[in-house]
Amino acid sequence: MKRKNNKKRFIKLKIIITMIILFLLSGIGVMAVTTKVNSINITLADGYEMTVLTSKTKVSEILKENNILVKKDERVTPNEDKDVTDGDTIKITNKSKQEIEVAKVSESGIETTLDELLQAYDTIVEKIEVEEEEIPFETVKKDITTGSGETKNKVIQEGENGLKKITYKVKYQNNTEIERNKLSEEVIREPVDKIVQVSSKVVATRERTSSRKSSNSSVGVFKVTAYCSCPLCCGKYASGYTSSGSRATAGRTVAASSRFSFGTKLLINGKQYVVEDRGSAIVGNRIDIYMDSHSQALAWGVKYLPVQVQK
Ligand SMILES: [Zn+2]
Repeated sequence: MKRKNNKKRFIKLKIIITMIILFLLSGIGVMAVTTKVNSINITLADGYEMTVLTSKTKVSEILKENNILVKKDERVTPNEDKDVTDGDTIKITNKSKQEIEVAKVSESGIETTLDELLQAYDTIVEKIEVEEEEIPFETVKKDITTGSGETKNKVIQEGENGLKKITYKVKYQNNTEIERNKLSEEVIREPVDKIVQVSSKVVATRERTSSRKSSNSSVGVFKVTAYCSCPLCCGKYASGYTSSGSRATAGRTVAASSRFSFGTKLLINGKQYVVEDRGSAIVGNRIDIYMDSHSQALAWGVKYLPVQVQK
């Protein structure tokens, strides 16, 4: 009896131990789930896509684990020191040519940090835009000095603005235009000259009146943007000097088309600026205002403002 009892107790103990072991095993099972294996997508610069299973979370470690080397002219998104989780994608892309040039400029000592510039590149979108622009008509005076005694100006033909279609390639960064290049221009409608018949007497009176009355003449509504001396705005040859040779100065320097000679004083939004610069994208009714920093230029955005020439 005693022995049998012992045996019974031993079996009980065995069951208890087994249960404890099972319990521990299930605990390990739970632990294994918390340090689970993530599925990460990796896209290589050449477009090759793969999905890897890894227990690592840091981008650099995952790349190393899969023997993926990031070349100097490639960029990893998210950054190599960042963590990713299940279902995330690590993207390796080629830096654009311009980015590499910017990087070179940075290495040679321009103050903007590369990170800042690369970040700025993240959201650049290029669009083709077609805009219609008016071609202002000209006023032609037909002089009739003889006879009639007519003292009033007589309009023989009303002027009519022409219209042209301009195709631009526009770069946007965070929905703010940062670069505009004209691709083509097509005249849809030629302007019609305004023809005014005047007597010389009337011409003389008018000239006197107008010179007394106003010293400014409106040249129309312009698309006014802003720029700074950084490589993003001025390319790799950014120097801080204008096309006219002066040092670009905030509050004074503007870039305008060759319609305005250097030194022309422009009133924009009631403030006086001086035409000192040109730009490949600054054509037609466009003006670019020089500012001290890129963030200020971005903050300005795009404005449509009436512009006057100050005489
Ligand atoms: Zn800039």
